[in-house]
Amino acid sequence: MKYISTRGEAAVLDFEGVTLTGLARDGGLYVPEAFPVFSDDEIRAMAGQPYADIAFTVIKPFVEGSVDDASLKTMLSATYGSDVFRRSAVAPLVQLGANEWVLELFHGPTLAFKDFALQLLGRFFDHFTAKRQQKLTILGATSGDTGSAAIEACRGRENVTIYMLHPKGRVSEVQRRQMTTVIEPNVINVAVNGTFDDCQALVKACFNDLAFRDEVNLTAVNSINWARVMAQIVYYFSSATALGAPDRAVSYSVPTGNFGDIYAGYIARLMGLPIDKLVIATNSNDILARTLQTGRYERGDVHATISPSMDIQVSSNFERMMFDLAGRDTDTVRSHMGDFAETGSIALGDSEISRARDIFLAQQVDDATTKQVMATLAESDGYMADPHTAVGLKAAELLDGKTPRVTLSTAHPVKFGAAVQAATGITPNLPLHLADLYDRDEAYQVLENDMTALQALVRTGASV
Ligand SMILES: *Cc1c(COP(=O)(O)O)cnc(C)c1O
Repeated sequence: MKYISTRGEAAVLDFEGVTLTGLARDGGLYVPEAFPVFSDDEIRAMAGQPYADIAFTVIKPFVEGSVDDASLKTMLSATYGSDVFRRSAVAPLVQLGANEWVLELFHGPTLAFKDFALQLLGRFFDHFTAKRQQKLTILGATSGDTGSAAIEACRGRENVTIYMLHPKGRVSEVQRRQMTTVIEPNVINVAVNGTFDDCQALVKACFNDLAFRDEVNLTAVNSINWARVMAQIVYYFSSATALGAPDRAVSYSVPTGNFGDIYAGYIARLMGLPIDKLVIATNSNDILARTLQTGRYERGDVHATISPSMDIQVSSNFERMMFDLAGRDTDTVRSHMGDFAETGSIALGDSEISRARDIFLAQQVDDATTKQVMATLAESDGYMADPHTAVGLKAAELLDGKTPRVTLSTAHPVKFGAAVQAATGITPNLPLHLADLYDRDEAYQVLENDMTALQALVRTGASV
């Protein structure tokens, strides 16, 4: 499989290349040159298979030429095995109503869906750095869950040093502790005085400094890394086939921040999975909901909410979506992104916005409603949803209910225990493997929102 940049000016790379590169050198994002399409029979055959086997079928075409089948199988069985995920179903569906399901994606080591992609990405890093005899510097920004999942995926890996930026005081205590209690020489936690968007901008700036990038051999674990999106396509196939695809269509409601998870659903649809609608579920940081309503992708102020992993006003993966909406025209994407850099706003063309509306619906859900959803569900069903999942469940009500609707449950309720407690009166318990989290030592550095300081820090580690 070959990968091209959404801005059309970076080298064409294979899967190994894009995994180790992250952001394209022209500032764009890598996407496959073409998407593989499965026949109905191929999709039908996935029903009831173990998760790792479905993953093999879905992922194989994307890594063709870079990873041999045997290595891929080994990595997938390790990633989606019982040492990593605490449920043998890996991504279990829980039924909440006649035609309503929750897809629980939080049974991995750090209790959020990001483990699905990052546990695999860590193994790809090992595989490729061992082959190349190369060391990698990983630089990431996190609104909470990417950080812990990436750190857990990279800890102790021989050829990898990871620097993880989080906005100081803006992640939950469980999220922070899951990152800062990993005391390993190859893990450096950085608390930035700023917002998540500031952290993400710092990371982007480091990637755009090509000399620095080469000097420390920088790569990304944010969802700008294609391998992450790829891994997330799999659970759309596992869940839809369990509910009767390809013979029955399914719709999804997806709690959305950086547009990575829902973009994976869009790709599953392109690959032949009968997904009827995809609902973009946002909190009051609603850039994507506004885009669908108005046709304008326009930056707003970031508000702190009880679903902090979605407190994002610039959705980096939206560029991949825009590339497709613009008929894969790189000139249009470059011009849109130029407008955005200059004015903080993009006016989508009529055909772009109508294509988006064919597939996506969007709903903004405020904190008060989110709490209500959590409380009602705890009381009526005894089901504990985390605030992100609750946003998704509320937004799912946009769908007519004739087609099975699945809300992605992106985090375990204990990860946002304070918000869940406040809404439901019930304190969720930490799973056994994290029971002593509050007793563990923490280590992190505090940094101003300043690229020079960040680069100096990364250089000290990268020279070891
Ligand atoms: C990261 C995250 C999201 C948003 O996912 P995107 O791929 O950025 O849209 C939603 N919920 C939780 C719990 C997350 O960690």
